[in-house]
Amino acid sequence: MKTLLIGEYRDGKLLDSTYELLGFAGQLGAEAALFLVGSDSALPAYGGKLYLAPASEAGEFNPDLHKQLVLDAVKKENPDCIVFIHSSYGWDLAPRVAAALKAAQVSEVVAVKDGGYEVGACNGKMRRLIKPATAQAVITIQAGAFQPVQPGGSPQVEKLAVSASSAIEFLGYEPAEDKAVDLAKAEVIVSAGRGIGKKDNVSVIAALAKALGGELGASRPVVDAEWVTHDHQVGTTGQTVSPKLYVACGISGAIQHLAGMKKSDFILAINKDKDAPIGEVADVLVVADLMQFVPALTAKLT
Ligand SMILES: Cc1cc2nc3c(=O)[nH]c(=O)nc-3n(C[C@H](O)[C@H](O)[C@H](O)COP(=O)(O)OP(=O)(O)OC[C@H]3O[C@@H](n4cnc5c(N)ncnc54)[C@H](O)[C@@H]3O)c2cc1C
Repeated sequence: MKTLLIGEYRDGKLLDSTYELLGFAGQLGAEAALFLVGSDSALPAYGGKLYLAPASEAGEFNPDLHKQLVLDAVKKENPDCIVFIHSSYGWDLAPRVAAALKAAQVSEVVAVKDGGYEVGACNGKMRRLIKPATAQAVITIQAGAFQPVQPGGSPQVEKLAVSASSAIEFLGYEPAEDKAVDLAKAEVIVSAGRGIGKKDNVSVIAALAKALGGELGASRPVVDAEWVTHDHQVGTTGQTVSPKLYVACGISGAIQHLAGMKKSDFILAINKDKDAPIGEVADVLVVADLMQFVPALTAKLT
C-alpha cells in the first residue's frame, strides 16, 4: 500500500504533526511519500520522497492552489491513500481532494485495524471500523492519535510548480482574542470531567485548583453542558496544555482530551473506574469517588 502524507507548514516552520502522519503510515505498514507546501529551509527529517511546492507562491494556505498541488502529486505518486491531519488545514482540503478524485473520505481516524480505519462514534464512546470501497481513499487522522515518528535524513525533493490560479490570496494570520483563562501558561491545572455529575460540583474542583495555586480546566462535556465556559476546555477543540501538574477529576481519557494534556509533566487522575483509559497516561491513578477524595485532599492542603 502507498500513502501520500500531507504535511503542514505555518509561519515559515514545518509543523511537528507531520511526523504523526509518518507514525500512521508505519502502523498501516505502508510506503510513504510526503507532500508539503513549504520551503527548502524547513524540510522534514525524513529520507524518503517529498513533493515540495513553494509557500512563497501558493501561500501557507489557499484551498484552490493547495488542492491542485495535492492532485498534481497524486497524479505522479498514484497513492492508495492520501492522508491529512484532522486540523483546520486538513478538514478544509481533504473533502475537496476527495470530491475531485471521487474517492472515499474517512475523517478523524484514531486507529488502524483489520485493514480498515477506526473512527469515534457516539461522541467518542464507541469506535466504528470503516473500510473504504473506492480504490483510493482520503483520510484525516485525529491529532494525537498516532505516535510521531521522526526517521531522520534528508528528503529526496521533487518540486511542484504552482500552475493553477486563484481569486483567493493568503494574507497572514490574526492572533485569537485574549482568553479570559490562559491555561497554556498555568503550572497547575485541575480539570473537571463529566464524572463530577452536576454544575454545583464545579466548585469542589475549583476549590482544589485554588488550594494548589492552579487554574480550573474541563473536559468538553462539562463545557457543552455550560457548567464552565469554553476557555477552560482542554483538548483538540480546546486548549493544549503542558503544566507541571495536571489533575484529571472524573475524566475518562478520550483521545481528544489526551491530545490536549498528555504532555503535562505529572498527571494525577481521580476516577472511580480502575480501567478508565486516563490510567494509561496518568503517573498516579487514584481509584475513588471524586466527591469523597477531592474535598478531603483540598482540606489537607488548606
Ligand atoms: C471532534 C471532537 C472533538 C472533541 N474535542 C474534545 C476536547 O477538546 N476536549 C475533550 O475533553 N473532549 C473532546 N471531545 C469529546 C471526547 O471524545 C469525550 O467525549 C470527552 O473527552 C469525555 O469527557 P469526560 O472524560 O469528562 O466524560 P466521560 O467519558 O463520560 O467520562 C467520565 C468519567 O468519570 C468517571 N466518574 C464518574 N463518576 C465518578 C465519580 N463519582 N468519581 C470518580 N470518577 C467518576 C467515569 O468512570 C468516567 O471515566 C471531542 C469529541 C469530538 C468528536
